[in-house]
Amino acid sequence: MAFEQTLSIIKPDATRRNLTGQIVARFEAAGLRVVAQKRMRLSTETAEAFYNVHKARPFFRGLVEFMTSGPVVVQVLEGEGAIAKNREVMGATDPAKAAAGTIRKDFAESIEANSVHGSDAPETAREEIRFFFSELEIVG
Ligand code: GDP
Repeated sequence: MAFEQTLSIIKPDATRRNLTGQIVARFEAAGLRVVAQKRMRLSTETAEAFYNVHKARPFFRGLVEFMTSGPVVVQVLEGEGAIAKNREVMGATDPAKAAAGTIRKDFAESIEANSVHGSDAPETAREEIRFFFSELEIVG
């Protein structure tokens, strides 16, 4: 297994309910280390650019509105197999399909307001980390 970094976002539905600490605790319990973190409010332009890959999807406009509806916490998580490990801890996109004990099963409000984002592959992890963080902000 490779030692990896992945981008995580704690989404507005979770920050609104003050779940940041509980979500971070799940990452840490799974062996992931938070090596960069900032709380921010995404602009429409930033959310559109981040989710550009989904721009043709019917849920795109709603997703951008949701992601700009409140603060997010963007993070770089690091560890052995961090990308897959984070996806495992997050659970399936749709909380109704997420496994027991996952963040989305326990906290998500809907398929859209599903509490967390995590990169899905090494290339996207690199791109997404670079989208939000400079090298100076990542301290392992
Ligand atoms: P993820 O990698 O599990 O986050 O899933 P995707 O990359 O497929 O989708 C990105 C985000 O778009 C999801 O986390 C949801 O917030 C949202 N999303 C995905 N599918 C749907 C959908 O069918 N309906 C709505 N409303 N939102 C969706």
